[in-house]
Amino acid sequence: MSTYHLTVVSMDGQDFEGEVQKILLRTIDGDIEILARHTDYCTAIGMGTAKVTMEDGTERKAACIGGMISVMNGEVRVLPTTWEWSEDIDIERAKAAKERAEERLKDQQLDKEARIRAEAKLYRALVRLGSARHDHQSDQ
Ligand code: ATP
Repeated sequence: MSTYHLTVVSMDGQDFEGEVQKILLRTIDGDIEILARHTDYCTAIGMGTAKVTMEDGTERKAACIGGMISVMNGEVRVLPTTWEWSEDIDIERAKAAKERAEERLKDQQLDKEARIRAEAKLYRALVRLGSARHDHQSDQ
């Protein structure tokens, strides 16, 4: 299968650079999959599990939240706000964040802005839990 050059640079630094077959990620308009020779394109990233198919056909998963993706002259740049490869996700931390957000959302007095923040935090935690490798830690 044809490949192309992908870079992933988040606020924390460079997370990936290399040849890949494809990337699938969630944009604000839904899931997109970029293959080689994709037309020039730019959009905002939503929150979801990104799947990167490497040159050798193996797939890696990551929690990919916010930012932009651009395709220009066959090069793909992903500039997420946060990007954590599956194996780097701290499951206990995500579970704790989920519980804090759920607790906060129980408060009937919460104003609109605080509710939106808590919902976003809950969604980030759910994306991380859904993207994490669960073979070494339990999510029960
Ligand atoms: P928390 O309350 O645990 O900080 P959060 O959703 O508020 O969660 P973010 O503001 O989205 O966290 O991220 C802050 C930084 O911490 C980013 O660099 C992000 O990659 C990292 N991060 C957040 N949660 C995790 C996690 N569960 N595992 C690994 N890295 C994480």
